[in-house]
Amino acid sequence: MVFWLVSLLGLSVMEMQMPEREIKNIKDLSPKEIEKFVSDNNLKPFRARQISKWVYQKGVSCFEEMSDLSKDFRDLLELSFSMEPSLELSQEQISEDGTKKYLFDLSDGNQIETVLIPEKSRKTLCVSSQVGCALGCTFCMTGTVGKIRNLTPSEILDQYLLVNKDNENGITNIVFMGMGEPLDNLDNLVRVINVLTDPTYLGLSPKRITVSTSGLVPKMKELGEQVSVNLAVSLNAARDELRDEIMPINKRYPIKKLIDASVKFPVPNRKYLMFEYVLLRDVNDSDSDAHILGRLLGGIKCKINVIPFNEASPLPYKSPDWERVLKFQEILMSYKINVRIRKSRGSDILGACGQLAAKYPSIRVKETPAHI
Ligand code: SAH
Ligand code: SF4
Repeated sequence: MVFWLVSLLGLSVMEMQMPEREIKNIKDLSPKEIEKFVSDNNLKPFRARQISKWVYQKGVSCFEEMSDLSKDFRDLLELSFSMEPSLELSQEQISEDGTKKYLFDLSDGNQIETVLIPEKSRKTLCVSSQVGCALGCTFCMTGTVGKIRNLTPSEILDQYLLVNKDNENGITNIVFMGMGEPLDNLDNLVRVINVLTDPTYLGLSPKRITVSTSGLVPKMKELGEQVSVNLAVSLNAARDELRDEIMPINKRYPIKKLIDASVKFPVPNRKYLMFEYVLLRDVNDSDSDAHILGRLLGGIKCKINVIPFNEASPLPYKSPDWERVLKFQEILMSYKINVRIRKSRGSDILGACGQLAAKYPSIRVKETPAHI
């Protein structure tokens, strides 16, 4: 009966019985998994290095272009993996200060943003790790979206690969400060860091990679056990009752636990643990708050970035005036703390880290360049 129905519909039995197999993007594999694939197929270990060179260093877009691999090997790769970019550039905006924001379409229709921040001696890429974020910090636009899903390793890596190509391989530093909480996507984050830092893959120094977290304490420990990178902790309040209010994750991992986990984190040699403190007018910017913060962090080997709230956001917070920012810094310095005031870069294009929600209208939209 089934066979009759299938014949009637003009389908072959093969078509009926073959469920579609999901083919993984090769950029979703860690260096170890590529090595395993090579050895499972009885190939010599150097084949893994050939693959990584073509995918990550030469940036080819199909297996066919891997000219020093045999036809059989290329066919095997073709059958086993896909390798097209997992992102498509939808818009590029350039801020007055040179900051560039890229809006990417994902294959499921979601969108993410990536920001390139050029400075005198470096170009820093701020990458997204999730679509939205579950943690709901009250001052953060990404938090207003809620968590939609984790990004795959290829979606995170393609942010780097596509923007790097668009900027003459000029990216020097990567910060996980875009959309999402990177430690809520730890497995994929670790895979990505391994690809970024492996000398036969992208070969970036771990000292040039910073993971920013709102304070998922157990995951901080796991991250430190698995890779070596810089850590930035978004503190934003030095009193539990205030931090509970603006960063609800604090109810689960309060300040003392967070500081304990932070100081235990193994930052690379000659690098400092970083704390970030977004200054919100009349919320966390008083002299008293500065003293509490100073007492909390004085004596800890760390740096603090004080970031005036980016007002381009529609959220009901204001940035303090400049005098208040300077006074806050002065008080912290009296505790012998290394404090920097970080300007919000790209604020005119909602480009500042934490501002990314991908659903707000663009300000100055450039044509999508053809080569990305
Ligand atoms: N989820 C991670 C990383 C992404 S948020 C984290 O919270 O650390 C990156 C940084 O942007 C955080 O330090 C956050 O406090 C900051 N941020 C969020 N909204 C901001 C705003 N409107 N102005 C300035 N910084 C903001
Ligand atoms: Fe999520 Fe970080 Fe925004 Fe908080 S500040 S909502 S953790 S992205």
